[in-house]
Amino acid sequence: MPDVTPLANHQCPLCSQPNHCAPAATGSFVSSCWCKAQTFPPELLAQLAPDQRNKSCICQQCVDRFNNQHPQQ
Ligand SMILES: [Zn+2]
Repeated sequence: MPDVTPLANHQCPLCSQPNHCAPAATGSFVSSCWCKAQTFPPELLAQLAPDQRNKSCICQQCVDRFNNQHPQQ
């Protein structure tokens, strides 16, 4: 069991849409979530302002959009 609390924000910091993060909604990492199977590219995380980092999950749409724009070789 991780000894940390899930990020409490339910809004994507990039598009302000709900990020659908299950642990954020339930307050427990026991909840399974799409983000556990997802990799978040460092280049995408770098688009966040420093005070937004580690505050809220990016939503799946923003991750998908980034991956479509930056295909992995
Ligand atoms: Zn988003």
